[in-house]
Amino acid sequence: MTWFAKRFLPLLLVAFLAASCGSRPMEPERRQNARQAPNSEISIYSHDEAGTPGTVTEGSTPPLAGGPEKFERMTHLADNRALARKYPGIIVLNATGLSNKIALTFDDGPDERFTPQVLDVLKKNGVKATFFLIGARVAGHPDVTQRIHNEGHIIGNHTYWHPKLYKESLERMRWEASETDKVIRDLVGYSPKLLRSPYGGLNEQNVEALGEMNYSIVGWSVDSLDWKQIPAEEVKKNVLTTVKPGSIILMHSGGDWRQDLSGMVAALEDIIPALKARGLEFVTVPQLLNIPHSK
Ligand SMILES: [Zn+2]
Repeated sequence: MTWFAKRFLPLLLVAFLAASCGSRPMEPERRQNARQAPNSEISIYSHDEAGTPGTVTEGSTPPLAGGPEKFERMTHLADNRALARKYPGIIVLNATGLSNKIALTFDDGPDERFTPQVLDVLKKNGVKATFFLIGARVAGHPDVTQRIHNEGHIIGNHTYWHPKLYKESLERMRWEASETDKVIRDLVGYSPKLLRSPYGGLNEQNVEALGEMNYSIVGWSVDSLDWKQIPAEEVKKNVLTTVKPGSIILMHSGGDWRQDLSGMVAALEDIIPALKARGLEFVTVPQLLNIPHSK
């Protein structure tokens, strides 16, 4: 253990406990670095896997700036439905029409715990999916990012530090999106056309500004609720009882470092053959919506 860890680990533990209890987390010592967002209000707790707060090192899986999905995500689907009606050319939640196609989407990767397991299941079943990646985690796991791309999946933008965009300035939002584009483009050669907002949280200003940046904002119509760390049977039920032709299914290939997504992986093993047996065809989001995958 380094002197830094010895000195700061207890402090970080307190910050983590404060965050878990829903109170304002204690501000850890912040280090400036090249990737620091402008006007940042980020309070990032850390641990030995996640590395130094606010920085990315090779092999680290930085925490979600807006907090773990398990504690922080609210249901924004109703809001997003209204936004999708108002901005049909920018934000989409599912495909319409008579197609039998559906799309699996995975947020919050890459990591080295669950993303490789998801990739293994997809490969075994010959299914291509869409991964909405966090820029800081792409920087931490370039090898896993490369694998996602090499195995024929599509990569979308899920911001750099995963803040709640609707609480941030538009300047900060543009930085989050562009910085993520950059780190993905450096690795796989394209800037994603697709973007999914952290926690699904958006306001009208967010949608308009992202539309001006030429993104297609992708929501979802089926929520597996895997982020609640529920057993495989529940994840399966949530998907199998609500999916229909044109559905975009929300799952997660990474989470908070305390989070166990093994129920999601086990469910995925069964969900894919069950839906194929119904005659549904798995495609990527750009294929489902007939839009390009890059800008
Ligand atoms: Zn997310």
